[in-house]
Amino acid sequence: MHCYICKALTGIVKRLSVLTFDYEIFFDGQNDLEHLITKTQKLTDIANHQSVPLSFFIDIAYLEALKRCGLHHEFKRIKDQLNWLSTCGHELQFHWHPHWITSTWNEEKKLWIFNKADYSWNGFVENHGMDKMIGALKLCLEIFKTEFDIVPCAFRMGGLAVEEPQHYLKTIENLGFTIETSVFPGFFKECKFFTTDHRKTPNKTHWKIDSQTGCFKEQQQGGILEIPISQAYTKELDFWKKANLSLNYRWLKWSSQEEEGTYAQSPMNLEVKKEILPRTASLDKADRATKMLFRSVTEQIWENGADFVLWLNHPKSLNLYSWSALRDYIDWVKNNSGQFITIETLKNKL
Ligand SMILES: [Zn+2]
Repeated sequence: MHCYICKALTGIVKRLSVLTFDYEIFFDGQNDLEHLITKTQKLTDIANHQSVPLSFFIDIAYLEALKRCGLHHEFKRIKDQLNWLSTCGHELQFHWHPHWITSTWNEEKKLWIFNKADYSWNGFVENHGMDKMIGALKLCLEIFKTEFDIVPCAFRMGGLAVEEPQHYLKTIENLGFTIETSVFPGFFKECKFFTTDHRKTPNKTHWKIDSQTGCFKEQQQGGILEIPISQAYTKELDFWKKANLSLNYRWLKWSSQEEEGTYAQSPMNLEVKKEILPRTASLDKADRATKMLFRSVTEQIWENGADFVLWLNHPKSLNLYSWSALRDYIDWVKNNSGQFITIETLKNKL
């Protein structure tokens, strides 16, 4: 039954919203751990106050790198925060950025050194082989188990860079994952670090996949559930305005003083930013132009008959506007018979 009115009449409309956050630092080498910790803290203060569970996708290979490079103080700070998130009822899931596996820490310059060709799954496998990839995934799952007593069920690929042929599906299935959530229907991004092409997805809220046919084809049978990310695109003009401001073309900063806060994000290398700045809107990058977007998109998706929306955000990108955007959005969902839910709970309802 897809009709919203039919669903509403029979009382089975669920109006769910999942807030996911990729818990990670930028991959340009700058160690912006402080931003990650303080912004996550503020974010969860808001969520806890409103009794909203959040889903954090932990860039687990970053933790492995901290351990391996002897950054024990930093490791402990993150571990404490993640344990605290768990205690508060938030969900920790698996986020995978393979470039961390071959990363090294330059203590003198206080900088991470990456091989950016290892950023995507296929890039890493081409450079180092499948065995090294699987070994690293197992090691990181072990860190989840020993440090947090968690067996994550959902997997999200870094940069949403799910490239075909998707060897990784077979691998994550063998490792016990039952949810894949890296797909952003309609999204296309080609840059020198990776290609993300999600233009051929089924027109559905979720679907089953198997390792033979990949994330973009629905299967009757399949060990993995694909839960895609909801779309909210910034308008052309807003995007270019933001891109220019974000890239520090100061002379274009015609907006009011108040908007300064929008760009008070963690620092990011200009070259990398130019490459990966997306057209998509997310709550963490909300500004005056996009703040209301999430209400209207959520409403539209619900009214089109879908039970849930799922937003992708990043604690590291939260800004002055995000806090009020988040509070407003939470209030609006609750006032409109909506409910917040984690991915694991969502899976049981689908
Ligand atoms: Zn990521």
